[in-house]
Amino acid sequence: MNCPECQSNQIVKNGKITLQDHSSIQKYLCKACDKQFNERTGTPMARLRTASMVVSLALTVRTEGLGVRATGRSFGKAHSTISRWERRLADQARQGSPPALGGAEVTLEGDEVDTRVGENLPQKHAVPGGSTSQ
Ligand SMILES: [Zn+2]
Repeated sequence: MNCPECQSNQIVKNGKITLQDHSSIQKYLCKACDKQFNERTGTPMARLRTASMVVSLALTVRTEGLGVRATGRSFGKAHSTISRWERRLADQARQGSPPALGGAEVTLEGDEVDTRVGENLPQKHAVPGGSTSQ
């Protein structure tokens, strides 16, 4: 790892940032230029206080068509927060650096359970009156 400012490798660990989900981000200090940075510096997640996986998930459901407000409710965030994440990543995309979202495949467990309820309703082709023809 090199300093994003001067590319020096004279960097030292300089404390940690604790996120809302209690994961932490390592901070670094460059001894060459005195610049502070962290693991997320240079990524769209820089300076966000939310775990990148949460941001990634929220934006994934947004691309699946969930509204900003519904997304906000689902993740316990204000809808303005969701919008800000979207703008942040859109800005990064325009600048030519693809979002660094960790690249992990995300599986929403139980995703399809509720969509199949209607298939269990009784069929309506039962013969009225129970008459037999054979
Ligand atoms: Zn430096």
